[in-house]
Amino acid sequence: DDTEELFSFEESLKELAQLADTAGLMVVDSTYQKLASPNPRTYIGSGKVAEIKTAINAYGVETVIFDDELSPGQLRNLEKAFGGNVRVCDRTALILDIFDQRAATREAALQVALAQMEYQLPRLTKMWTHLERQSGGKVKGMGEKQIEVDKRILRTQIGVLRKELESVRKHRKQYRTRRLAVPVPVVSLVGYTNAGKSTLLNQLTGANVLAEDRLFATLDPTTRRVQMKNGKEFLLTDTVGFIQKLPTTLVAAFRATLEEISESSLLVHVIDISHPLAEQQIDAVEKVLSELDASAIPKLMVWNKVDKAKNPEELTLKAKNVEDTICISALNGSGLDEFCDAVQEKLKDTMVWVEALVP
Ligand code: GDP
Repeated sequence: DDTEELFSFEESLKELAQLADTAGLMVVDSTYQKLASPNPRTYIGSGKVAEIKTAINAYGVETVIFDDELSPGQLRNLEKAFGGNVRVCDRTALILDIFDQRAATREAALQVALAQMEYQLPRLTKMWTHLERQSGGKVKGMGEKQIEVDKRILRTQIGVLRKELESVRKHRKQYRTRRLAVPVPVVSLVGYTNAGKSTLLNQLTGANVLAEDRLFATLDPTTRRVQMKNGKEFLLTDTVGFIQKLPTTLVAAFRATLEEISESSLLVHVIDISHPLAEQQIDAVEKVLSELDASAIPKLMVWNKVDKAKNPEELTLKAKNVEDTICISALNGSGLDEFCDAVQEKLKDTMVWVEALVP
């Protein structure tokens, strides 16, 4: 995977800790191991398993999170090795947890539920083999039958959810088609999670979109009307923040929500320029955009948080020399006039402007 290499494992682990924090967990320790190839049974080596087990006992750990996707077998073996009540999960499951906590609309909730079930399906075995072991092997074979029953139930539920999701989407599509009939250009905010998209939307519109220093504060797209000084308007949509190692299955799950992006007249890519990994984050976002077939849409790069940057003057100077780049502070509002001018300039060629109905 290209983006995986962009982030060092230390950086990736740091972000994983931040994700855990966002999910409401307290991180007590983190560790890594360099292996020529992952252990097929337990992902990490047996020495590492023992070391983690010691830490589990010392801290009373309830959850062990791996930064890479574990196979269902590895997951099971690790849970067995760590003992009874320890939950083992991977980055994907953690992201799904966060999405679950944050889904605010019916559509987002359905999407998350569906993605969770699809994630669970191949990992179902655990519960029933556990039962088999408890009975001392008396119910051998029964576990397997039960797994089949459970899988069938889960598949039926997945089918029901899909249908429900379809009808919710149809509804939203109709609404969007109606909206598109009014020729107000749609501008979508994209960017790495925590870059400042919600803050920018709030500054421009006075909307009170949840802006927090947390990953994935925004899950559902929010659209607001922005009116500029000359009375012209555009619709500004805030989308879910992107993140490295966002599993393709999750990108697929949120495709419909992200459809708004591929139908926009302009993309505004918000970058947290004060972040040490800003460049890697840009690449991670571009990668997801290309997966969404949105690479061809005109784009404006916005370097945000200049107030926090080390050399704001130098940065502004640099931005002036790079085409389609603008420096702002979404927090204190600096650069927003230039931002609106740049948006207008970019939209000029592509859209017919509607005169706003100002009294
Ligand atoms: P999103 O995930 O891209 O929507 O990011 P948010 O809008 O939620 O912002 C993430 C964090 O960055 C919040 O704590 C904001 O207050 C902060 N933030 C956003 N813009 C700026 C800025 O221009 N300067 C500074 N210093 N902080 C900002």
